[in-house]
Amino acid sequence: MTTPSLLILAGDGIGPEVMAEVRRVIGWFGDKRGLTFDVTEDLVGGAAYDAHGTPLTDETMAKAQSVDAVLLGAVGGPKYDALDFSVKPERGLLRLRKEMDLFANLRPAQCFDALADFSSLKKDVVAGLDIMIVRELTSGIYFGEPRGIITEGNERVGINTQRYTESEIERVARNAFELAMKRGKKLCSMEKANVMESGVLWREVVTRVGADYPEVELSHMYADAGAMQLCRWPKQFDVIVTDNLFGDLLSDAAAMLTGSLGMLPSASLGAPMENGRPKAMYEPVHGSAPDIAGQGKANPIACVLSFAMALRYSFDLGDEADRLESAVSAVLEKGVRTADLLGEEGVTPVSTTGMGDAILAAL
Ligand code: ATP
Ligand code: MG
Repeated sequence: MTTPSLLILAGDGIGPEVMAEVRRVIGWFGDKRGLTFDVTEDLVGGAAYDAHGTPLTDETMAKAQSVDAVLLGAVGGPKYDALDFSVKPERGLLRLRKEMDLFANLRPAQCFDALADFSSLKKDVVAGLDIMIVRELTSGIYFGEPRGIITEGNERVGINTQRYTESEIERVARNAFELAMKRGKKLCSMEKANVMESGVLWREVVTRVGADYPEVELSHMYADAGAMQLCRWPKQFDVIVTDNLFGDLLSDAAAMLTGSLGMLPSASLGAPMENGRPKAMYEPVHGSAPDIAGQGKANPIACVLSFAMALRYSFDLGDEADRLESAVSAVLEKGVRTADLLGEEGVTPVSTTGMGDAILAAL
């Protein structure tokens, strides 16, 4: 087997700080587990703009297309706020997503027992929670035509169009079913087929794809009812698949079930490559956090867990992903906390490196 390849784009703000801890974790897997990765590093976002005058060079884009997985830190910061839209750091990220055609955005909402008190919900509602939201990322109302603000008679009208083709629905549905097969074999599809044509087609196509996965228990829910159920008893779900707009809202809501932004990983997946695995980019949900950048305060767990997702989905190393996630869980059980996770009085926070040390020790 060829050595799996990984492109690291640490980016801006706390991106390089949290990525430094992931690099140590990767080193641990090499030293202790004999798992070597062909790691290359490059610039993205403001860092790339400073060096090359563009937030993503063509060379970096080509590298991203050729590796097994991309791991990204974060992009942006106040230094770049005044830049022209065409060279803003965020454009680097959007270009990666678009050109790699990463149509399925996976956002786990997982609640570590040690942090269950931290949720906005009651402890028994969230303790042990482990669900996955699959959001369609490249189509739907954020992209549909016609769009714009037009004048009709004597008033202006804002227009967006929700539009889904069968193949767009089918590919994200297939992705979600495959995921459900690897998890609890339960998939809930959310749309509003009661009031939207795209929802009617969505439900029809998901049901049809489901015929290929008889082992997966498929259910359908209107997205508004889904939002309510997600807050009432989230543990009823395993995998949820939904469109771009509803997924945007539902995944942010689900994130808050679990506590801090500093804990949340994500994966964006595209079509299968020659090796059968999807094109993929992994990144923490949080941004560059300019308010704490350079202070060694950032929580590296979201980025570490993003690497765990890469182990699972790009490198077929599910056992090693479990190992890493268990180490994170053990560290939290021991009471190790970065500043963003502090609730209780009298706990002294550890630094970014301190959290990395604790994770390595737990491994
Ligand atoms: P973006 O526009 O890139 O999403 P943002 O300003 O919306 O950025 P973040 O950069 O994620 O959001 O920061 C939001 C808040 O959460 C900030 O106060 C930040 O310090 C905090 N935060 C984000 N990530 C972390 C982390 N890994 N560790 C600790 N605090 C974090
Ligand atoms: Mg934000």
